Amino acid sequence: MVAEDALTGTGPLVVAMDGPSGTGKSSVSRRLATRLGARYLDTGAMYRVATLRVLRSGVDLTDAAAIVVAVKELPLSIGTDPSREVIELDGEDVSAEIRGNAVTKAVSAVSAVPEVRDQLVALQRDIAATSGRIVVEGRDIGTVVLPAADVKVYLTASAEARATRRNAQNIAEGRGDDFAAVLADVQRRDNLDSTRKVSPLRPAEDAVLVDTSELNMDEVIDELYRVVRQQISAGGA
Ligand code: C5P
Repeated sequence: MVAEDALTGTGPLVVAMDGPSGTGKSSVSRRLATRLGARYLDTGAMYRVATLRVLRSGVDLTDAAAIVVAVKELPLSIGTDPSREVIELDGEDVSAEIRGNAVTKAVSAVSAVPEVRDQLVALQRDIAATSGRIVVEGRDIGTVVLPAADVKVYLTASAEARATRRNAQNIAEGRGDDFAAVLADVQRRDNLDSTRKVSPLRPAEDAVLVDTSELNMDEVIDELYRVVRQQISAGGA
């Protein structure tokens, strides 16, 4: 149950934002959090840091037991200020490195290991519980991590629209221009993430689906704000 002050920036509010990669989820979640006066948690970044740790340990990605050991005591520090990204591994700023190709290629293998998920989900719940107002972004937030979230959104977009956005981001950030490869990677990761045994990517039954294929960033934010307001009045009245 959400109080009426949830929209005004004072009451507790938990928003779960799920969906595949390339829907603009991170940018819109961050902006929605700012608009709501809430904290913001990027759970994908947590899996990426775990993956970087695994890669640096030289562990074989098919060896789940070794992955568990490599990630066991993960010295991860993640900020929740939507206007300032802080992602550190053992005190080192790894915010750029975790978006690189090596981590992006390996992250599905690491995030499919149940013990890794248990460990990170516990941390995600702790952060959400102590934040009061927060937008939590990921793949399984509404279904597994925070099933009692006040508002659940599932962002979707066509694979082509998502690959177009990711490719533009790669170009802007100096990682090259290869639409076909990006589209293949989007499809490969969708497939891995939605068919894995533990916490497969799927919308929660009570999630509101928002298709961002034809919308620009401002339109998505407006739509999300409308959804949050609607859910709050439906749940809190
Ligand atoms: O959102 P992002 O693309 O950074 O996520 C990277 C990867 O982390 C995803 O492809 C998925 O394998 C994993 N992930 C997950 N559960 C989450 C968030 C991300 O399995 N809640």
